[in-house]
Amino acid sequence: MRTQRQVVDYTLKRRALLREVFAGRVGALEVCDASPYLIRASKFFGEATETQCPVCRREPVWHVHYIYGDELRASAGQARPRAELAMLAMEYRAFDVYVVEVCRGCGWNHLVEKFTLGRDGLSHDDANRRRRTAD
Ligand SMILES: [Zn+2]
Repeated sequence: MRTQRQVVDYTLKRRALLREVFAGRVGALEVCDASPYLIRASKFFGEATETQCPVCRREPVWHVHYIYGDELRASAGQARPRAELAMLAMEYRAFDVYVVEVCRGCGWNHLVEKFTLGRDGLSHDDANRRRRTAD
């Protein structure tokens, strides 16, 4: 997405946690604790992935996008379909998106990445472009 910025990737944290699970230092029940809300959000707003659930390996995980930010007011903390994010990015100046993966089979869930979207990213782009042309 064009205004995407400040991307934080949680792949390493996810891998480290899974290592603990496979080594038996962390119980599967502890990490497969998806709330009914998260499971439901995955059904209504989730994005299908080709990533197999790392715990049960029986089905692919779903990505759920949660949006946060002062500007969003009542919408803050809601899950939104991925397709809607680009539109929201034109509507608001800045908001954070948390992408959570969840397995509907076993309840495994983990934060995948976090990033910022919004119109402010465009002016940033434009400023950069201006700077580049000024050189
Ligand atoms: Zn699973």
